[in-house]
Amino acid sequence: MILGGGPAGNVAATYAARLGAEVTVVERDVIGGAAHLWDCIPSKSMIATGGAMSFMERSEGMGLENGTPMIDTDALTARIGRIKNQMSGNTTELLQSQNVRLMRGAGRFIGPNTIEVIGELGTEEVEFDSALVSTGSRPRVPEWCSPDGERILTTRDCYPPRVFPESVTVVGSGVTGVEFVHMFSSFGSDVTLVVSRQQVLPGKDPEVAAVLEQEFMDRGVKLLMGARAQAIERVDADGNLDSEGEHVVVRCDDGRSVTSSHAVLAIGSVPNTADIGLESAGVHVNNWGYVDINHHCVTNVEHIYAAGDISGKLPLSSVASIQGRKVAEHVMGLHTRSHRHLDYDKAASAIFTEPEIADVGLAEAEAFASGRKIRVTKVPFSATAKAMINNDTRGFVKIISDPATGVILGGSIVGRHAAELISVIAVAVTAGLTVTDLVESILVHPALSEALAEAAE
Ligand SMILES: Cc1cc2nc3c(=O)[nH]c(=O)nc-3n(C[C@H](O)[C@H](O)[C@H](O)COP(=O)(O)OP(=O)(O)OC[C@H]3O[C@@H](n4cnc5c(N)ncnc54)[C@H](O)[C@@H]3O)c2cc1C
Repeated sequence: MILGGGPAGNVAATYAARLGAEVTVVERDVIGGAAHLWDCIPSKSMIATGGAMSFMERSEGMGLENGTPMIDTDALTARIGRIKNQMSGNTTELLQSQNVRLMRGAGRFIGPNTIEVIGELGTEEVEFDSALVSTGSRPRVPEWCSPDGERILTTRDCYPPRVFPESVTVVGSGVTGVEFVHMFSSFGSDVTLVVSRQQVLPGKDPEVAAVLEQEFMDRGVKLLMGARAQAIERVDADGNLDSEGEHVVVRCDDGRSVTSSHAVLAIGSVPNTADIGLESAGVHVNNWGYVDINHHCVTNVEHIYAAGDISGKLPLSSVASIQGRKVAEHVMGLHTRSHRHLDYDKAASAIFTEPEIADVGLAEAEAFASGRKIRVTKVPFSATAKAMINNDTRGFVKIISDPATGVILGGSIVGRHAAELISVIAVAVTAGLTVTDLVESILVHPALSEALAEAAE
């Protein structure tokens, strides 16, 4: 029995069914989950359209006549809808082809072996031997802000917003915040980013963050560093509070404030663990609302698993999917033969800004902080023919290896297609490959991946 059909739930369902389990998935919205409906798919679809616009703007010198691209909001909305429907449809078909039972409705545990599903056709109780809780998360909304879906927005109100913001203040400078800054600035909005620390992307390699800060400033994005938002309110043209006012003011704890036509809240997420009856099943939730799991994704109750965002590991669709797969293997007893523990420290991740940013494994700053000896090699994309051909020489590849053995421990890539290129380093990190393995691989020419081989050299 699987509660929630996002990446964790639907991947677990597919593999468990393939391995011979009788599987039911309960989903209250769409199969594919928030990942398809609100997060990965729509945000990256919007970013791809913005990227096409900025590519056209940057195409000077490529032998094209310059034209100014314009947004067609209806066509953009239709495009995002098409991609979401196609993705959700594909996933639904895959589950059906494996004879997975799909139940539409809101599910909750009413005992350690029973889930109640409240659907359009009434309420049904389903008994199970094992269950997976994969109900995902939703945007965090603090008590000092009331999103209205019109001008004070959460990330879920932006695909696209009803009116394209003339100006927008993004609150939160983590991965989601900077992607929204990039998205709106590539569509021509006047953007301000409220950064609570002294660096965007806190926790990321400072050198990588600095590239993005510079890029934002070059594009006219205003960075309000060291400012923590404490109120977001709608105001009229004179600055008086007005719930229907055409302006939004973001007030910060240091007395500074920013006024714009819209504000977007991007300050993280909270797990969907309330109201699903976890207490009736005896499943513990920690102080932050997440379900603690062991390395097999088993909760404190032996036959109940948790995976995806609610497990409080890395909030990534890719992590949710692989956890789902591990759950299926474990529940069907396969872990004894093939199981490798998930190593969340080796998960690759990407930030879909321009330039793209991707990293995996050990970071340079982390190694220095722990006193670990590392070797860092860095090659700029400007050294490759393909970057020149692409008319975009921004960014670099950085490889972190063990100086004694040459084993690749991690890496960062900033630049075009970083999210694709990082896969090479991710495989190397997971498989324990060395810089020599990379140097001796015969790669394509001309390609951006040549910078990887150069860095390994
Ligand atoms: C703006 C944004 C962009 C993102 N972009 C990326 C990206 O590019 N790449 C990436 O890897 N990650 C990205 N993420 C993170 C990614 O979306 C999540 O990590 C992923 O969706 C988690 O998957 P999940 O299976 O845990 O939950 P979800 O995808 O949230 O699915 C959970 C499902 O459970 C259902 N559900 C909840 N409660 C019940 C109930 N009681 N009964 C029935 N069904 C229920 C929900 O309707 C939902 O469909 C992004 C996140 C955000 C906010």
